[in-house]
Amino acid sequence: NMDAELIAVGTEMLLGEIVNTNAAYLARGLSQVGVTSHYQQIVGDNPERLDAAITVAEQRSQMIILMGGLGPTKDDLTKQVLAKHLGLQLVEDAAHRQKLDDLAKQRQKVMTPNNLAQALYPEGAVTLTNHVGLAVGAIVSGEAHQYVLLPGPPREFTVMVDRELLPRLMQGEKQHLVSRTLRFFGLGESALVTAIGDIIDGQDNPTVAPYIKDYEVTLRLTASAVSEAAANTMLDQLQARILAVLAPYYYATGANVTLAQTVVQELIARKISITAAESLTAGLFQATLGSVAGVSAVFPGGFVTYAPTVKHQLVGVNAATIADYGVVSRETACAMAEGARSALGTEMAVSFTGVAGPDSLEGHPAGTVWIGLATATGVRAEEFHLGGHRNEVRIRCVKTALMMLLH
Ligand code: ATP
Ligand code: MG
Repeated sequence: NMDAELIAVGTEMLLGEIVNTNAAYLARGLSQVGVTSHYQQIVGDNPERLDAAITVAEQRSQMIILMGGLGPTKDDLTKQVLAKHLGLQLVEDAAHRQKLDDLAKQRQKVMTPNNLAQALYPEGAVTLTNHVGLAVGAIVSGEAHQYVLLPGPPREFTVMVDRELLPRLMQGEKQHLVSRTLRFFGLGESALVTAIGDIIDGQDNPTVAPYIKDYEVTLRLTASAVSEAAANTMLDQLQARILAVLAPYYYATGANVTLAQTVVQELIARKISITAAESLTAGLFQATLGSVAGVSAVFPGGFVTYAPTVKHQLVGVNAATIADYGVVSRETACAMAEGARSALGTEMAVSFTGVAGPDSLEGHPAGTVWIGLATATGVRAEEFHLGGHRNEVRIRCVKTALMMLLH
């Protein structure tokens, strides 16, 4: 953020004859446009001391605002001192020169050089119109600093601050960029983007950028605003609109959080223990739980049950269930989940049975999977048709089960 230092120029202030009300007025305005300020100085109408004050300010502030001393009298030296300090010539502002000429005509007087000096500003500067007086203001952009020249009379000063200076500082004010990553699973990138098409179409602040990684879609929302709080409010509003559509596929917000972490944290927070009986995933679900620190609080162990005989041995699936319905079936998935749950006495159990591929099984194509979920209130199973090669199917299968646990 821009950091400004105010330097009031005028011996009267040092003598206590007038109070530095201009500084108070400007300080309030600067804080309103987000420009910080840590130092103020008052210096008399003395070129050496004014130059020294500028040098001091340069060591600790980016913007140096000089107030007063732009008038026609001999003690008005601010502009000249600054120009000399920066090695700049003073040049004439045509509009202010015209004002001086018009005034001279009206008063039937000839402008003296010191009067004409009010229309001068340092070459290359942006001029600030004086709407109620004759001395032109200026913003000089140096290499590391900006210098601002403002007139002393409060009536001129306040109008120039409000109409000329603060609007420019507001435009040039640093924007705060805040990003947020929303994480989804269970919907492809194009389907997800299509689903929220009307929300993100033509949206340039905040921006919405989709990414795919590890078979998941993430949306990175980035808002730009005058403050971090304002940017976050924009992101909150956009997030609410997106989740109104995509809630079933959403699992967390954060750049580094994983689906497994989200599920395990939820299980730990709610003190829900879990086990699993895995056929096609052969332990991948349990290994995934195991990747999260602290999971042992809710995961006592579980089963890998490939062969029908092992499904019977370890989690008590009846041979008749498999004979009647096949291994790739709702009934087998439910029996596996119930059996695993009662074998270990956990709150929940998940089961996986299906076809990882590449070959089909029992007439079901690769990617056909049943995921069972047993809890104290009953057991259910859902069928999924997952795409990809063998290991992709297994990974998607695990993530699908984790989503079932969250929703
Ligand atoms: P002028 O054209 O009147 O000479 P100037 O830009 O040269 O204007 P100064 O000569 O420094 O400004 O001040 C003009 C008058 O403005 C002062 O006599 C004083 O009354 C008032 N003034 C100057 N600086 C301040 C200040 N920082 N706070 C309040 N009043 C100020
Ligand atoms: Mg003066």
